[in-house]
Amino acid sequence: MLLRHTTKEITERKALSVNPAKTCQPIGAMLAALGLHNCLPHSHGSQGCCAYHRSTLSRHYREPIMAGTSSFTEGASVFGGQSNLLQAITNIFTIYNPDVIAVHSTCLSETIGDDLNQIVIKARKDNKIPEGKYIIFASTPSYVGSHVTGFSSMVKAMVNQISEKTDKPKQQINIIPGWVEPSDMAELKRITREMGIPTVMFPDTSGVLDTPQTGKYKMFPKGGTTIDDLKSTGDSIATIALGKVCSGDAAKELDRKHKVPCEIIDLPIGVKGTDRFIEALRSAAGVSVPDSINDERGRLVDMITDMQQYFYHKKFAIFGDPDQLVAMTEFLTDLNMIPSYIITGTANSRGKKFEDRIYEILGEDYPNTKVMVSDMYMLHQLIKNESVDLLIGNTYGKYIARDEDIPFLRFGFPILDRVGHQYFPSVGYKGAMRIMERILTLLMDRQDRDADEETFELVM
Ligand code: SF4
Repeated sequence: MLLRHTTKEITERKALSVNPAKTCQPIGAMLAALGLHNCLPHSHGSQGCCAYHRSTLSRHYREPIMAGTSSFTEGASVFGGQSNLLQAITNIFTIYNPDVIAVHSTCLSETIGDDLNQIVIKARKDNKIPEGKYIIFASTPSYVGSHVTGFSSMVKAMVNQISEKTDKPKQQINIIPGWVEPSDMAELKRITREMGIPTVMFPDTSGVLDTPQTGKYKMFPKGGTTIDDLKSTGDSIATIALGKVCSGDAAKELDRKHKVPCEIIDLPIGVKGTDRFIEALRSAAGVSVPDSINDERGRLVDMITDMQQYFYHKKFAIFGDPDQLVAMTEFLTDLNMIPSYIITGTANSRGKKFEDRIYEILGEDYPNTKVMVSDMYMLHQLIKNESVDLLIGNTYGKYIARDEDIPFLRFGFPILDRVGHQYFPSVGYKGAMRIMERILTLLMDRQDRDADEETFELVM
């Protein structure tokens, strides 16, 4: 009993969060920045924050995560960190020579009141930014929002501070993929190539956080959105943003700044989610859907036909980030599974987009589903009162799964206790097939484990 202090009785808590279902803003900002080619993320705060953010990303991706830090000590903590950041900018461009430094703030620098915009203006005035190099920045204090809002703010900063519009429009579509794995980004690009549509994807961690082992260390891997591509997003014919919370703000900013029309849709997970993505691509680019994509869809539908009897009315609880919860809930309810509890630690910092969309998906079919902005202690309490057949979420769910003896699907961020998840996509028709296969294996392994000698079947 690892979580032996969780009580079954639920009392109202307003000012206390126990085991939050989120982590801090700069982790998201750092991850987004890694999706730019030749970019060094920079943490404007203490070394401890930066070390924590890097280690969380390293543990999830099993790759070295490079980032600079303003290394606040007592002096900077009292008088502000401007001189630290200016010195860091000089050192980073001199020693590591990135194309872009992506600076994010932390609780400490925000509390002091450091103004990143003003510091970057000063760096420019003092000629600390070499010709052809860039600094972007995002405000990411962690006493508001979560890793998801930090990610969103850095993606918006890419648009706001780098995208340009020229008098030469480009027949290309911007894809803002949201918080997904490098393999998902590669899969999204494969689909657009299959449809013959030129795209610019930003951020793009494929080729950065899933690099091949060559025996040689490269500080800046070959992947990531180049500055030239990012600049060109203002000339694109349309933007398709995946995930309202992670990608919506950047898409709207492109529309506001350069009048690039945008469509903001859910992450393309499952049949309907992927259908919407394909349809958005088709209509924005004016192409027809090739047979190869229709075949992929047909295979998924066939797999659903074969498997649906095993999913029917299985109850699940899911926790994590809003965009992932929305897409997974729609997919799993399409499989006739019943959502018992849906919990995020993030929503409300961007209005009520999350709850509104979840309730839209649930309709009137699931009146007993509990949708909450809460923490994992609450999730555990709910499960203690009425258990589920499957728990879905990041690594931290393993304690609840073990204590309550529930099959556990690792999904989301971070996954710290398993390896390989970043290499297999969850998006698109192929990704949906993999999700189904993983869930069914969990459910059937449990059935085998619990079967007595008379009901232990060879054919299931
Ligand atoms: S919560 Fe604030 S102080 Fe803690 S690691 Fe995150 S940014 Fe640093």
